[in-house]
Amino acid sequence: MYLHGTSKINAQGHLEIGGCDTTDLAKQYGTPLYIVDEALVRQRAREYVESFRASGLKFQVAYASKAFSVMAMCAIAEQEDLSLDVVSDGELYTALKAGFPVQRIHFHGNNKTPDEINMALDANIGCFVVDNFVELQLLNALAGDKGKKANVLLRVTPGVEAHTHDYISTGQQDSKFGFDLANGSAYRAIQETDALTNLELLGVHSHIGSQIFEVEGFQMAAAKVAEFAVQIRSELDVTFRVINLGGGFGIRYTAEDKPLPVAQYIKAITDAIKTNFSEANYPLPEIWVEPGRSMVGDAGTTLYTIGTSKDIPGVRKYIAVDGGMTDNPRPALYESKYEAVIANRANAPIEETVTVAGKCCESGDKLIIDCELPKAEIGDLLAVFCTGAYNYAMASNYNRIRRPAVVFVKDGQSDVAVKRESLDDIVGNDVIPARMKQASTAK
Ligand SMILES: *Cc1c(COP(=O)(O)O)cnc(C)c1O
Repeated sequence: MYLHGTSKINAQGHLEIGGCDTTDLAKQYGTPLYIVDEALVRQRAREYVESFRASGLKFQVAYASKAFSVMAMCAIAEQEDLSLDVVSDGELYTALKAGFPVQRIHFHGNNKTPDEINMALDANIGCFVVDNFVELQLLNALAGDKGKKANVLLRVTPGVEAHTHDYISTGQQDSKFGFDLANGSAYRAIQETDALTNLELLGVHSHIGSQIFEVEGFQMAAAKVAEFAVQIRSELDVTFRVINLGGGFGIRYTAEDKPLPVAQYIKAITDAIKTNFSEANYPLPEIWVEPGRSMVGDAGTTLYTIGTSKDIPGVRKYIAVDGGMTDNPRPALYESKYEAVIANRANAPIEETVTVAGKCCESGDKLIIDCELPKAEIGDLLAVFCTGAYNYAMASNYNRIRRPAVVFVKDGQSDVAVKRESLDDIVGNDVIPARMKQASTAK
């Protein structure tokens, strides 16, 4: 069994995270429950920041908040000197409500609405990562209306394909994101930006994919971006001050995943930038990266209660938990793999291979296919590891299932960061139109 961060098995044979016994957490907060190992989140943040400090380059490490956007995470990001990426008014609002320093907020997205852009301009955020020509004109116009100048990075697609699951790779040419380097649209975007008076061009951004386990993709992207920078400087007399190489640093969900230490990714990136830019006598730009998954993914654990089981002799045995694709849609979306343990008998020997099903009315609602576990009893607690990223963030109320609570644990202390939804929350936005009420009383 692979235990992440502060997770361990205590003297009672229970899974413990952040010094908190998970069986106690289940009693106190109920299940399903997202548990976040705060020390591990902070450790990751520091690994990024310290790796960059060692490089001597100027930098920003922006937490891609879409991985897990809640106010407590924004607070941690602020304390750890991170910047923050947002991709919607909701994520921006979360950051603003958490009091996150506006200058360190970067706004992403391929279809920012005028309202979202205005909200971000009013908040004086640090930077817009502009995705397309429509947005370029829109942002320039809206900034002009307010008498403001907006800092921008242009998102380019460098044509580098990271080795990853196809659904989540974005660096290749056929992408909904960004200006293409190869076909000249990135070049034209720079010319256009340079001519727009309400935009301040800081540089370019590239994000080559997700759950990446090698440094080569980042090195190739750095080289392509550097080549582009040199061409732009010589032909258009525009110098980039910032190069953003995106996120996508991999984590270990199962034994198949072999991520590199954070320091190794960052050293490869900063070395590639130094080499490529120095060779061209180009002033070394500031480097930004945007880790999402690797900041929180393995710090999260979801705790469920096992409710029912079904044995189909010769086929498979199912055990069903009190959550499922509503709190973790990734297995259904991406065939993502996870590992799990019985949290209240974490030392018990592996006895059977089961499929962990959720409680949604979908045959595809399976969290783990062929999960090796001790013989599960009804009422046992199942802990699924590595659920910190893109789980709560992607949770839904399908079947009107309430979203679980999130607790942060550290040094034996647990605190609610997001309350469990109530049944009243479930109907909170529902309205029965008056004419329907009349119809029912008229009967
Ligand atoms: C999703 C995304 C990230 C974060 O990706 P991770 O794989 O979670 O590190 C960073 N930058 C951009 C532009 C993204 O779309």
